[in-house]
Amino acid sequence: MASDADTLTRTVNVILLGPPGAGKGTQAKMLEDQFGLVQLSTGDMLREAKKSGTELGNRVAAVMERGELVTDDIVIGLIEEKLTSSKANGFIFDGFPRTLAQADALGDLLKKNGQKLDLVIELRVNDQILVDRILNRAEEARAAGQPVRADDNAETLAQRLEAYHAQTAPLIDYYAAKGALQHIDAMGEIKDIAAKLGAIVRTATG
Ligand code: AMP
Repeated sequence: MASDADTLTRTVNVILLGPPGAGKGTQAKMLEDQFGLVQLSTGDMLREAKKSGTELGNRVAAVMERGELVTDDIVIGLIEEKLTSSKANGFIFDGFPRTLAQADALGDLLKKNGQKLDLVIELRVNDQILVDRILNRAEEARAAGQPVRADDNAETLAQRLEAYHAQTAPLIDYYAAKGALQHIDAMGEIKDIAAKLGAIVRTATG
C-alpha cells in the first residue's frame, strides 16, 4: 500500500511507453506500490488467458509466439473490462496502447468512464542494450529453473522490436501533439528510474 507521504491528491492515469525490455512492467509495479495505482498490462492479461487455456488464450498464442501484435479489438476489450470493473487512484497502462487505433480507443474509454489521461512517459533505451537485457533475463530464469517467456528469444525479439518501431513508436508523436508526453532515460539503475518516474507522477498531481 502507498504510504501517507505518497498519497496522491487526485487520480492519475499514466501510460508507460517504450519497447519490449525497457522495464515498463517493473516500473509499473513500483508505481503501484508507491502510489496505490493499478497496473493494467495487456501482455500479462494475454499470458494469463494463454496459461488458463481460454478460447481467447488459444486464439492469441501463436501470434504472441511470433512476436506480432494481437488484434486491436481483443486488447481494447480486455482494457475496457478492467477499466469498468476496477476501483483505483488511477491506472498505469503498461504495453497498451500499442497502435494508434488503441490510443484513440483508450481516450474514448476513459472519457466514457469520466476519466482522463494525465501522463504519457516514454522510457528511452538503446535497442542493443535492450536486446541484451531480455536475453539475459531469459538466461537467468532458465539457469534458476524458472519458466522463461516463450517470446524471449532472439528471433521473436527481433519481430517484437520491429512491431514496436512500425506500429507503436508513432504514438510518441501522437501524444506529443496532445502535450501529454514526457520522456526519461531508462538505461540506468531500476531504483533511479523509479525515482525519476515517481517525481514526474507527483509533479503531475501537484
Ligand atoms: P508484453 O508483455 O507487453 O511485451 O506483450 C507480449 C505480447 O502480447 C506482445 O508481443 C503481443 O503479441 C501481445 N500484446 C500485448 N499487449 C498488446 C497490445 N496492446 N496490442 C497488441 N498486442 C499486444
